[in-house]
Amino acid sequence: MTLAVLSIGSNVGDRLANLRTVTDALGSRLRARSPVYVTAPWGVTDQADFYNAVLLAEDGSWDEWKWLEFAQRCERAAQRTRERHWGPRTLDVDIINCAKDGEPVVQRDPRLTLPHPHAHERAFVLVPWLDVDPHAALHGTPIAELLTVLSATEREGVQRRPDQTEWLR
Ligand code: AMP
Repeated sequence: MTLAVLSIGSNVGDRLANLRTVTDALGSRLRARSPVYVTAPWGVTDQADFYNAVLLAEDGSWDEWKWLEFAQRCERAAQRTRERHWGPRTLDVDIINCAKDGEPVVQRDPRLTLPHPHAHERAFVLVPWLDVDPHAALHGTPIAELLTVLSATEREGVQRRPDQTEWLR
């Protein structure tokens, strides 16, 4: 039994529809979804704002590699093209954390590093993650605490989308 924390983002095309392809693909594995946040782009700033959300998903037989396969399948299905690093993308799906029988998987494999090596410094991951799991921790540190360390600019760059009805429907 694994419980995965997935960070999903889109800033090309119908952003909400792109995010929804992941919840649809998860089907009965989906345990919780955060609200959608509008996020100023990271790294390369001359591009559209992202929609971001965090999902909790569970599977009785998948391991961490199956979650990576799932993430990459979703990205391919959304016809993700990547012209430049940190550039516009139809869909990005990252595995932030994966707990196996309650214990987080910790590994540094470049194909799949867990927990995600940049999660602690990204408000667009921590803010929605806190919504779906207020007691979550990264390497033993509560994510609520990690958020307080981020700059005001980083935190204020992540705003809850005012209307969530379409997403929660
Ligand atoms: P990105 O451009 O951020 O989507 O990075 C994709 C690459 O990162 C893929 O080659 C993955 O194998 C690798 N990767 C390493 N760790 C992770 C992770 N925790 N979640 C998703 N992709 C990962």
